[in-house]
Amino acid sequence: MEKPLLDISNLKVSFKSDGTYLNALSGVNLSIYPGESVALVGESGCGKSVTSLSIMRLLKANAKVEGQISFNGKNLLSLGTKEMRKIRGQDVSMIFQEPMSALNPVIRIGDQIGEPLFLHEKLTKRQIKTRVLELLRLVGIARPEEIYREYIHQLSGGMRQRVMIAMAMACKPKLIIADEPTTALDVTVQAQILDLLRNLQKENNMALLLITHDLGVVSEMCERAAVMYAGKIVEESTVDTLFNDPRHPYTKGLISSIPKLEGERNRLKPIPGNVPSLANMPQGCRFAPRCEFAMEQCIHQEPSYMAINKKTSVGCWLERGNNDDRSTATS
Ligand code: SF4
Ligand code: MG
Repeated sequence: MEKPLLDISNLKVSFKSDGTYLNALSGVNLSIYPGESVALVGESGCGKSVTSLSIMRLLKANAKVEGQISFNGKNLLSLGTKEMRKIRGQDVSMIFQEPMSALNPVIRIGDQIGEPLFLHEKLTKRQIKTRVLELLRLVGIARPEEIYREYIHQLSGGMRQRVMIAMAMACKPKLIIADEPTTALDVTVQAQILDLLRNLQKENNMALLLITHDLGVVSEMCERAAVMYAGKIVEESTVDTLFNDPRHPYTKGLISSIPKLEGERNRLKPIPGNVPSLANMPQGCRFAPRCEFAMEQCIHQEPSYMAINKKTSVGCWLERGNNDDRSTATS
């Protein structure tokens, strides 16, 4: 069987604050295979961005990181700064939500897109310029020569995101991480950018890790999805299975909160309650305070995360019950 391109195992991240460590990630496991598109879904504050920044090794200095992030067989967490810089932009690149803060306002767009090429590939200035113009065309920018000389503030939100994608694509990475790439855009532009990203991903056989709180985006873009809650993955499956047969009560809540168009079901059902704060994590199942199925056991003991079949893994005591009591279960 093919080996995963990215293999995250037991990733734990905590941040030092006022002398104590707060756990942002408590043992995340996730694999992505070459060319595969995987979504990491959850409400804000659940650890999605911390996961992506851990992969890129871009966490702030007060972060303590444990576990393993293996990329193409190398543990990224044990690489030196120099080696990591080689991988970043060349093998793995990232598209951020807000291009204005990720791109440099005083460097011309062409020079910015050319930077990873300059750093990672031995090309002449002229070759770089040719490649950059190609990249601008590739991401659907109509007047590449003109845009090449402009600055980021001169562009619309959608154009800026196209520039970010061009930059991320420059060295033909094996993996692109896109963290809420279209959240700041209006719906029409959002659809265009997602289309562009999906086409480029397929055509170039790149793997994509898409970070989003929007399940609509997941169904359009990804083959597999992992649902995160309070610093842990609580369910992982193919997108089809996740939408048609969600197992974890949190996943069920997320899916039933998608507005449906047909008659009766046309109402939004938000999950009551909030994501627990890092400083005050429930002792047992982290979802228990919001879970309509919570049992005594859930409050005291954290459920283990396990595969319930070839496609799906879940961390919920209800599934354990289903497995153990299968012979006596009544339906
Ligand atoms: Fe709900 Fe218990 Fe499952 Fe947690 S373990 S999601 S509280 S049923
Ligand atoms: Mg985020």
